[in-house]
Amino acid sequence: MPLLVSNVPWTDEPLDDARRVAVHLGLSPPEILSVQLLKRSVDGRRRPPLWLANYRVELRDGEPAEQRLLQQGRHGLRLFTARDAQRFASSVPVPDLRSTWPASQRPIVIGAGPAGLFAALRLGEAGAPALLLERGEPVERRHYDVRAFWRHGQLDPESNAVFGEGGAGAFSDGKIYTRRRDGELGWVFRRLVDHGADPRVMEEGWAHLGTDRIREILPRLRARLAELGVEVRFRARVDRFVVEHGRCVGVELAGGELLRGAPVIVATGHSARDTWQAMLDAGASAEQRPIHIGARVEHPQRLVDQARYGAERGALPPASYRFTSVPPAGRARPAHTFCMCPGGTIVAASNHAGRVVVNGMSYSNRRAAFANSAVVVEVLPSDYGAADPLAGARFQDHIERLAFDSGGGGFRAPGQLVEDLLAGRPSQGLPKVSYTLGAQPTDLREILPGPIIEGMREALRHFERQLPGFAGPEAVLIAPETRTSAPVRFTRGPDLHSLGLPGLMPVGEGAGFAGGIVSAALDGMKAADAVIATVGAG
Ligand SMILES: Cc1cc2nc3c(=O)[nH]c(=O)nc-3n(C[C@H](O)[C@H](O)[C@H](O)COP(=O)(O)OP(=O)(O)OC[C@H]3O[C@@H](n4cnc5c(N)ncnc54)[C@H](O)[C@@H]3O)c2cc1C
Repeated sequence: MPLLVSNVPWTDEPLDDARRVAVHLGLSPPEILSVQLLKRSVDGRRRPPLWLANYRVELRDGEPAEQRLLQQGRHGLRLFTARDAQRFASSVPVPDLRSTWPASQRPIVIGAGPAGLFAALRLGEAGAPALLLERGEPVERRHYDVRAFWRHGQLDPESNAVFGEGGAGAFSDGKIYTRRRDGELGWVFRRLVDHGADPRVMEEGWAHLGTDRIREILPRLRARLAELGVEVRFRARVDRFVVEHGRCVGVELAGGELLRGAPVIVATGHSARDTWQAMLDAGASAEQRPIHIGARVEHPQRLVDQARYGAERGALPPASYRFTSVPPAGRARPAHTFCMCPGGTIVAASNHAGRVVVNGMSYSNRRAAFANSAVVVEVLPSDYGAADPLAGARFQDHIERLAFDSGGGGFRAPGQLVEDLLAGRPSQGLPKVSYTLGAQPTDLREILPGPIIEGMREALRHFERQLPGFAGPEAVLIAPETRTSAPVRFTRGPDLHSLGLPGLMPVGEGAGFAGGIVSAALDGMKAADAVIATVGAG
């Protein structure tokens, strides 16, 4: 059985993987039969910080040699188990139903974000003649729309930072790490690499793509979908679901065109509030769910590097962090940092006129001089002020409108120095921030409800103890970060069909079943597999 060798130092010396492992284990290179790099990440706790790698290793002399090594009781060395094999599997096969797929059964997928794209891709690979409908533009054109918004505040409500090919994840940092590792994840990662992602994302512990890379991957994915027989339509907004005899059997587009098909996979993300309403109108069942709201905090990247690495970063990647604050019950609400973007910028992420929402993005090289993350606080359905499923969306919308007004228009965002928030005074001025549409110094208490402010204050003080400078004079807050996930969940049964409306399959982040690019893609894949299983079963 192979060995799992963990924490092998990855130095600058030009060693190949086999030599690196041999040096680490005190063996000569010919004693190694094969090595497979599984994971690589920086250990920032070491001084100096160091890249460490994990490998699957086979020795030429097989079991006796492995037993000899294991008997040395070395830390970070054990047998590579069947469970490890499952964790690091690189795919899950798709059945080929091309010749048997019933011509009458055309699945419709709504939304070309990660959930919809990967659902359509999986269906296409199985031979389904699926139809993918996207309200926004293909990424090449969307790029110009997003640029016009971020530079000049000209918002196209249908093609922007959250709507259009690639969904909300297209103009992002593109973090694609999750704690989960298995064959399904392997399938998603493998497809990303097949269509242009850096192959190292398969191994990086903290892999990210970056906006520039995502922009290259999307047209290739689109071409692959066409090759597989999946029809992709842009500027095709679904406004209504067609229901016959209690089942969803198709959709109506803006403009009135009717399209029949089933099932209808709805992967419309957490910003399509109009589509949530259309789903409810058609009979889909939904419930409220908690969310997190707060503001982006921005620091010079140099400050984060120095605090994490104890020095300038040199050749290491820009340092990142992830913090949680769980104050004693009754003092303040729990909070955490979310979607940290090292070497990134804060961006406008609204699709609605008169609303300010911020988020973070970066390019693949993460070269920007700033680091940002959202500091977000738990918000419960009891805060929403009403019991209907969309009350949470109205709660978000209220904050976003206040923020727009407070920014003074033109999508300027309200901002405050962390020190001023902690001292309970409005900011009179702000240092240079990365948010391109400008920040208006203010008092965030005018925008965010009291419990969110208290949770953020408690968290910022706590994070300062973990990263000196986090709440220091260079730290600025830009608000609000309201759309960390969906405040509603569209309930579904074991077959992933809506409990209230069979034939409709709510998936991804907007349906309340994912939070992030990879989990949305996995949920889309799961929905496709459920469809494929019913067709495969005859
Ligand atoms: C700026 C930014 C940065 C982010 N950074 C990261 C990150 O680094 N890592 C990470 O994991 N996550 C990140 N996220 C979150 C991530 O993008 C989302 O979790 C993910 O995209 C959700 O995928 P989804 O497919 O469920 O929905 P979405 O990506 O939101 O896609 C929904 C799609 O449906 C389309 N649509 C909506 N309504 C209709 C309709 N009625 N008819 C037709 N089409 C419709 C939309 O145009 C959109 O393309 C970021 C988000 C933003 C905004």
